[in-house]
Amino acid sequence: MSLENMTEMLIRAKERKYAVGAFNILDYNSMKAAVRAAEEVKAPVIIQTSPKTIEFWGCRTLSVWAEEICRDSDVPVAIHLDHCRELPLIKECIDAGWTSVMVDASSKPFEENLSLTKEVIEIAKPKGVSVEAELGEIGGVEDNISVRDDNAYLADPNKSELFCREASLDCFAPAVGTAHGVYRGEPKIDFDRIEEISKRTNLPLALHGGTGLSDEIFIRCISLGCAKVNISTQIKYAYIDSFVNYYNAYKTEYNPLKEITAQFDTIKTAVIEKIKLFGSAGQAWREKYYGSTNFNASNRSGHYHRHNNRMVYKGE
Ligand SMILES: [Zn+2]
Repeated sequence: MSLENMTEMLIRAKERKYAVGAFNILDYNSMKAAVRAAEEVKAPVIIQTSPKTIEFWGCRTLSVWAEEICRDSDVPVAIHLDHCRELPLIKECIDAGWTSVMVDASSKPFEENLSLTKEVIEIAKPKGVSVEAELGEIGGVEDNISVRDDNAYLADPNKSELFCREASLDCFAPAVGTAHGVYRGEPKIDFDRIEEISKRTNLPLALHGGTGLSDEIFIRCISLGCAKVNISTQIKYAYIDSFVNYYNAYKTEYNPLKEITAQFDTIKTAVIEKIKLFGSAGQAWREKYYGSTNFNASNRSGHYHRHNNRMVYKGE
């Protein structure tokens, strides 16, 4: 079992100015493709599940898949709940073995967002589960939640600083101009805002709405403090296109395992490409530091200790 939370992987990424890819998986095949991709290039990786994917498969099913796929993995893998607005589902995922959760109360007023985020932290942290929260509203469509671009508002640096001082997060997702889904026209990313929020919060930032951004934009955002980059829409495209392309090329075959293999290969290739772009290839530290069973993370950071094989924050 090699599931980790995101805490240490993101601290390391921020320090070394690369980003860990967070890929929204859809089923066993895509989950396995993302993990095998990370193993092939020796990268830490985050496999994300949206509430809708969980609703479809069920918590236990996804958790069993993750345990099975990662059992002999030699890279750190986190299983993360993406954009969740419901406290009961967050609790269910934590109980089922998720190592990380995102509480998204960004559509609520600041105080309400903060208080729900704190509530999640109180539940998650004692169990070694890392927490991400969002401020401002990221545009586009995620699951069935739609934010019109002209309504999307960006995260204010002062409020970001206050939010992160009040809530001890592992990862912060400020709205900085990216959008979920497919971009209509040129994305307008507020790079200065990313830099300022990164400095003032001193937290690894999550970049949402990654699909469709140019390589240059990714690299610049990562250099300014984005240590987690979410890729969802591209995986959906790879998932469906690979199936359709294979079918069109071999219409008379009707061999599902070959189609599934084509899908696996396409998703794995897409994930490897992004991992390399984000600079996390070769950054898996498991072999180096976890080779002995008496590894103690507090040797390197006084703020963390191991609990049930996970990094747990002890506070200042
Ligand atoms: Zn998102």
